[in-house]
Amino acid sequence: MMGQNILYLVIPCYNEQEVLPETAKRLKEKMSEMIRSGAVSPDSRVVFVDDGSKDKTWELIAGLHAQDDLFSGIKLSRNKGHQNALLAGLMTVKDKADMVISMDADLQDDINVVDQMVEKYKEENDIVYGVRSSRQTDTFFKKFTAQGFYKVMKALGVEIVYNHADYRLMSKRALEGLEQFSEVNLFLRGIVPLIGYPSCTVEYERGERFAGESKYPLKKMLSFACEGITSFSVKPIRLITSLGFIIFSISIIMLIYFLVVYLMGKTVAGWTTIVISVWAIGGLQLLALGVIGEYIGKIYMETKARPKFIVQEFLNK
Ligand code: UDP
Ligand code: MG
Repeated sequence: MMGQNILYLVIPCYNEQEVLPETAKRLKEKMSEMIRSGAVSPDSRVVFVDDGSKDKTWELIAGLHAQDDLFSGIKLSRNKGHQNALLAGLMTVKDKADMVISMDADLQDDINVVDQMVEKYKEENDIVYGVRSSRQTDTFFKKFTAQGFYKVMKALGVEIVYNHADYRLMSKRALEGLEQFSEVNLFLRGIVPLIGYPSCTVEYERGERFAGESKYPLKKMLSFACEGITSFSVKPIRLITSLGFIIFSISIIMLIYFLVVYLMGKTVAGWTTIVISVWAIGGLQLLALGVIGEYIGKIYMETKARPKFIVQEFLNK
């Protein structure tokens, strides 16, 4: 796996003019240090992906590139959202790099962990997940919702690395694996574990955004969470099936109960038939919906056309 250790940092940026100069400065220090010590190749780069920013972000990126070869820029034709911007960056640099680390422009992810990630890569890991050791800098609300989200994902059977966002290292072949996932609804932290290959985690403390504002307001956060669940799990559909089954079972119990009451002559005429029909038909309808949903879920997963396997090694004489 040992190539020349060319490292590319990929950083999606959306309206980040307040943070870019400082981010560039800090990353330049970090990269120079790593190049000097021989940890990574001098051909390593820092790549900013401008996700259709409306401010001076692209001008700043172009300026950095003009001044210093270390910095590269990719400009998307319009705003496509964090996940798509990240994927655009990864796929654009894939053939030039031996390993790629993705991080946010606001440097909330501790860049001193980059050394550890590279070390782990050299220990033959294809994917190194940056995992937050605590959530001290988060508000109670963010902590609560984020942790709830990881738990729900787990309960729905989605394999996801706990407390890992999009700060991670991927080797070239892991990126080639990622390329085979052709889905449009992109939830990278759910897809990456599906690629396989040896992987590990490194812990870091997440800081606060040092300038500018979060581009993930509550509304976007909720839709992101919803995206994550519905892109990876058809369990919500199964819930309908179970519900239908439960209600239909209740209707049978009711049927027996009402018949007994009816035979004892304690009811108003017509009541029994109506109540039983309501329960039985309600249950049957839900059951039917669930069955249809089950097939839709299958179609949904088929249309994703995910790779069925990724070969890691082929021993052949
Ligand atoms: N981002 C992006 N496109 C968007 C929204 C955000 O590329 O449409 C980038 C943003 O510039 C930053 C990263 O995604 O580098 C994470 O965003 P942010 O720091 O605002 O999110 P938070 O840390 O608050 O969750
Ligand atoms: Mg941030």
